[in-house]
Order: sequence, then structure tokens, then C-alpha cells
Amino acid sequence: MAVGIIERYAAYLPVTPATPRITLGEGSTPLVRSSRIGPAIGLDQLYFKYEGLNPSGSFKDRGMAVAAARAIEAGAQTLLCASTGNTSASASAYAARCGLRAVVVVPAGGVAAGKLAQALAYGAIIVTVKGSFDRALTLVRKLADEPGVALVNSVNPYRIEGQKTAAFEVVEQLGRAPARLFIPVGNAGNITAYWRGFCELASRSGASLPTLHGAQAQGAAPLVRGRPVLRPQTLASAIRIGNPASWSSAIAARDESGGTIEAVGDDEIMAAHRRLAREEGLLVEPASAAAVALLLKKANAGSLDGTEPIVCVLTGHGLKDPQALTRGLRVPRAIEPTLVALRRVLG
Ligand SMILES: *Cc1c(COP(=O)(O)O)cnc(C)c1O
Repeated sequence: MAVGIIERYAAYLPVTPATPRITLGEGSTPLVRSSRIGPAIGLDQLYFKYEGLNPSGSFKDRGMAVAAARAIEAGAQTLLCASTGNTSASASAYAARCGLRAVVVVPAGGVAAGKLAQALAYGAIIVTVKGSFDRALTLVRKLADEPGVALVNSVNPYRIEGQKTAAFEVVEQLGRAPARLFIPVGNAGNITAYWRGFCELASRSGASLPTLHGAQAQGAAPLVRGRPVLRPQTLASAIRIGNPASWSSAIAARDESGGTIEAVGDDEIMAAHRRLAREEGLLVEPASAAAVALLLKKANAGSLDGTEPIVCVLTGHGLKDPQALTRGLRVPRAIEPTLVALRRVLG
């Protein structure tokens, strides 16, 4: 039976004996060794942490399990969030699982089809607001003090705590900490969580610390530019965020690890996305491919040591955003069900 992250990592999480051990089987995702991209760019030990295999299709489930459990323990009946999509899908799933109400506030036109379909199917109350994610988050924060309501955005400290378990798993699976970890950065909760996880392991068991490389999309790169972006724009909707809530902790993770936060263009993101699908058999949503786009850029510039273990976090599943995946592609027309017609297609 699947053991969730609360059960597995209770000793390292802010849970009490009274915290319900709720789970949808989140965590324990595979660390897949690169079969073709790594060798092609001179990296012997390139790995992908495939977080798209979490129950609702993104890493958000790790933090949501802990946030929902603590909300239940505190007597909440409603999980509330603003979302670019995956937080709402995850909150809706855990709310359904636990008999809570989910209220998700999403930017109009800013959410990938698969994620919206999830929130609808799980039975969430969906509120669509005009403007960007940042406006939606500002709005829900004003509701967070209502009795019975738990705000489950990554400003909720239990989200970050749950998400740090991915760093624990990477070190377990690799048998050591990676030399470098590449990760997409939107609201900056996840880079904060990974850094916390690695630091806790380092102080507990003397594990080494990786250098972190955060990837933002060029049209939504406030941390790279050093100031908020009023109208963030990118095809990678999960990281279309102009004013990250965890700004200062992301900068701290970058600086303490000796790493970087850099921007990649949408064309680079989609090229990385295509390579993951066609050379690795790994389907991810565009935001996840941003981390790999940055890796490719750095490998091209010759700034990576090919003998060191390097991990890219693939944050969300490709089926979340079929429209982005299939841009420029077409399903071929139907043929007659004859051998002649089939041979003609195959040339
Ligand atoms: C939420 C999300 C991100 C960004 O994570 P932050 O914690 O907001 O920086 C990246 N990729 C996917 C698929 C996401 O759902």
C-alpha cells in the first residue's frame, strides 16, 4: 500500500500525534536517469525527479497533504487558494478526499485546460477573477482569517514543509545530494522548500549541499530582473507570476547555495519540452521544461561538470496542458481501414 509523505516523514514534519495521516499516495516519485539528453550534452549523471506522477499530477500534492491535514486538525471546513492551476487541482483533490469544501480562485484565461477540468471534476467551487495570479493571491489573502477557512497557497508554512520531502527523496534515491539541482520558479515556494530540505539533511547527517539553479520564463522573471512584473507573460502558465510570495527565501536559497536564478525564453522552454518527450519519453507541462531549458543553456555554455550528479525537477505532468503540448501538431485525417491505405501512409 502506498505510504504518503506524512506517514513516511512524520519525524521531520510539523505534525502531532493528533494530525490525521491523510494521503492520496503522494511522494515516492521516481528519479529517472536520463537515457539520451544527458549523453548527448556530455552529462554522465543527469536525473529527472518526475513529480508529475503525484496523485493530482504535480508536486503541489506533497505540501497539500500536510496543509490539509493541519487544516483538519485545526477544525477547518474549507480549503481556499489562488492558483495558476496546479494548486487548485491539488486542493480540490485533497478536499474531496477529506470531505472539505475547496474554493479556488483562478486568473481568467490563465489556467491550462487539464487543471481546470480537475477542479471541476473534483467538485471545487471555482471563482474566476480578472487580472493575473498575483491579484488573485492578494484577494484570497484577505479572506484567510475567516473562521473555518484554511489558506493553502505556499504562503501556508505547511505547504513548504511538505514539499521539502522531495529533497529528502532525491538524496535517498541518489545515495547522496546532487551537485546541482535545476528547478522552475514561479511563486518561489518550491525552491524554498528544496533548499530547506537539503539544509536539514546536511545538518542532520552531514549530506553535502547542492547548487540550486532556478528557471523563470523571460516574460515572467521578477527574480531575475529584481523587481515585480506587472503583466507576466509566458506560455508556461504555472510560472506566470509577477510578484512571488516567497521572494526573499528564493534569493536566500540562490545565494546560500552559490547558485543562480535565470530566465529562459518560451521557445527554449518548448524545445526542452519536445526533447523530454521525444528523447526521454517524459511528458511534462511547459513550466517543468523551463528547468531543463536552463540546463541545456548552461551545458551549451560549457559551464557544467559532466561527471557530477545533476537533478532536474519535472514539476508537473504533460497531460495538464494538452494545448501547449500540441501547438503546431495535428492529428492526421482518418484513412480507409485497408492495407493499401495504411501502406500509403507509412510510405
Ligand atoms: C507551482 C508550479 C511551479 C512553480 O512552483 P513555485 O513553488 O510556485 O515556484 C512550477 N511548475 C509547476 C508544474 C507548478 O505547478
